[in-house]
Amino acid sequence: MGVLTSTIGNSSDADAANDNQPPQPGDDVSLETNSHHSAQAAKVWTIEDSEKLYRIQGWGEPYFSINAAGHVTVSPKGDRGGSLDLLELVESLRLRNLGLPLLIRFSDILEDRIERLNACFAKAIARYSYPGKYQGVFPVKCNQQRHLIEDLVRFGQPYQFGLEAGSKPELMIALATLKTPNSLLICNGYKDREYIETALLATRLGQKPLVVLEQLEEVQLVIDAARQLGIEPMLGVRAKLTTKGTGRWGDSAGERAKFGLTIPEILTVVDQLKAVGMLNSLQLLHFHIGSQISSISVIKDAIREASQIYVELSALGANMQYLDVGGGLGIDYDGSKTNFHASKNYNMQNYANDIVAEVKEACEGRQLPMPVLISESGRAIASHQSVLIFDVLGTSDVHAQTPAPLEEKEHLIIRNLWETCRTISVENYQEAYHDAIQFNEEAKSLFSLGYLTLTQRARAEQLYWACCQKILGISRTQDYVPDDLEELEKSMASIYYVNLSVFQSVPDSWAIDQLFPIMPIHRLDEEPTCRGTLADLTCDSDGKIDQFIDLRDVKSVMELHPLREETQKIANSPVKEPYYLGLFLAGAYQEVMGNLHNLFGDTNAVHIQLTPRGYEIEQVVKGDTVKEVLGYVQYDVEDMVESIRRRTEKALQENHITLKEAQRLLQNYERSLGSYTYLSY
Ligand SMILES: *Cc1c(COP(=O)(O)O)cnc(C)c1O
Repeated sequence: MGVLTSTIGNSSDADAANDNQPPQPGDDVSLETNSHHSAQAAKVWTIEDSEKLYRIQGWGEPYFSINAAGHVTVSPKGDRGGSLDLLELVESLRLRNLGLPLLIRFSDILEDRIERLNACFAKAIARYSYPGKYQGVFPVKCNQQRHLIEDLVRFGQPYQFGLEAGSKPELMIALATLKTPNSLLICNGYKDREYIETALLATRLGQKPLVVLEQLEEVQLVIDAARQLGIEPMLGVRAKLTTKGTGRWGDSAGERAKFGLTIPEILTVVDQLKAVGMLNSLQLLHFHIGSQISSISVIKDAIREASQIYVELSALGANMQYLDVGGGLGIDYDGSKTNFHASKNYNMQNYANDIVAEVKEACEGRQLPMPVLISESGRAIASHQSVLIFDVLGTSDVHAQTPAPLEEKEHLIIRNLWETCRTISVENYQEAYHDAIQFNEEAKSLFSLGYLTLTQRARAEQLYWACCQKILGISRTQDYVPDDLEELEKSMASIYYVNLSVFQSVPDSWAIDQLFPIMPIHRLDEEPTCRGTLADLTCDSDGKIDQFIDLRDVKSVMELHPLREETQKIANSPVKEPYYLGLFLAGAYQEVMGNLHNLFGDTNAVHIQLTPRGYEIEQVVKGDTVKEVLGYVQYDVEDMVESIRRRTEKALQENHITLKEAQRLLQNYERSLGSYTYLSY
């Protein structure tokens, strides 16, 4: 009550007024909140300012930049020329009745990424005179969309680029899509008998499936299937390294990781294989320490450890030929080139160099032949190619009203707030902020106790926001923002309502707070004078984006332009000019992560009700079949079966497969398509 009595007890002495002048009725609260903007308006905003603000060179090079018209441009072929204006593209797509939000995929970018990755390894191999080769694979789980996988296989042909499958549906995709001779088909994930058989039979179609053992139980399954089919498998082991990844996905590695075998377990595998005379089949060592590894030192440590395991396995008599370094090659989402989780402190070339150099050193030391190097880079290949465009439907600015002039005999608390607002300056803004907060709190208490009317409370609140606006205006011009003012920016931010579902289109933003670069795709020659957060169309309060990339750490609001009314008015009613935002680098994981990770679909569901004698099953809702989930990612199952059938036929003609094997393969393939996406034993 102390505060309260002091306010009531103080007659006309406005204790907050740092000024000697008592407030006069009729005084205008100078709401020159945009004073710093007007100061800057003198300095014309340029596209270079936008480049810096949105950090587009940091995360967008060489694909995204800003043109003289202030629009984002896309150069899908990277440095090799050719570009298009993203705004013009979006507008022309809209004229073709393609509404927003719109995911635009640039296949040339995909091609460029594959070329780049291969070029980096080629360069590293030349630089260290590595007497082996690099042969990458794309992890299907990263983006299973049919058109993307088909493009990828096509663009990867010159490099014998293969695919990695992490589940049975992904194996189905890889079998039907991968047609590049000598490319690798890495089979990861949990495996049942059907998965293993199908993978082994793929050998007969001329594929090179490498079955990577991740669980001890799989060893016997593989031995049995191989014996029964009479096919000598190519096997790998996935090692749990002690090197731990960092950041978000750090838990994929380390001794407690979900996947992979510990060193004692690997030795058990070696013994088991040796006992049945199959040690010759063990040819590959695999590890995956997580995605988006932001620090090169973590990668180096992992390679060093894995190289030693590799040479030791050779020493134990395994027929080692491949070293698969998994995924993890990072993307610079915030353009800061740091080991922050949204960035990485190395480039693709450093990555390739370190892998090549470390492996060479380890093998040379033991005079072993150099392995074929495999990486399973998903994020680094697929992220850049897609851009999500969405529009702003409206904004909400609750704090934008200008308070009416001060009248005679207004309540003391209102006069105090008024006076605080009037006297805010560069010298006292921080102190004024605390005064304003205190007066606003007092006003709320006074209201609760019946000393203020609703109108008076509204007035107090309005004045409070006016203070905040003014203080914020000043604090933005300062180089250093005091900690206590940081929250202010967020609480004053406008809400931009966007035509989007965060859950559908950017699930990682919601689920794991992943940062993606977001920026307007036009008006970039104009200063973005507003600060806002984004709220999506869903009724869920989590359907928002309120973390944005920054040079250091993250920022809680982003710079945006005020919405404008269109110059030409349709039927005399003013129309809002479209305001388009782009979300970039979201081509990896976002399209299917929400509900179809690794293409595991809806689960079976049953509705149970108690009855006097126990329970009854009211309803059974069958979960997705493989066929159904493949349909979600645009595959035509009949085409897939037909493709396998044709290849089987060809293999038969060429005597690569027996009739019995062919039958089994097709049966397995078709049965898998009709089965539940989860495993069955
Ligand atoms: C997810 C995953 C990848 C892909 O990782 P990126 O970081 O996207 O390159 C590769 N291998 C395995 C085994 C994975 O689980």
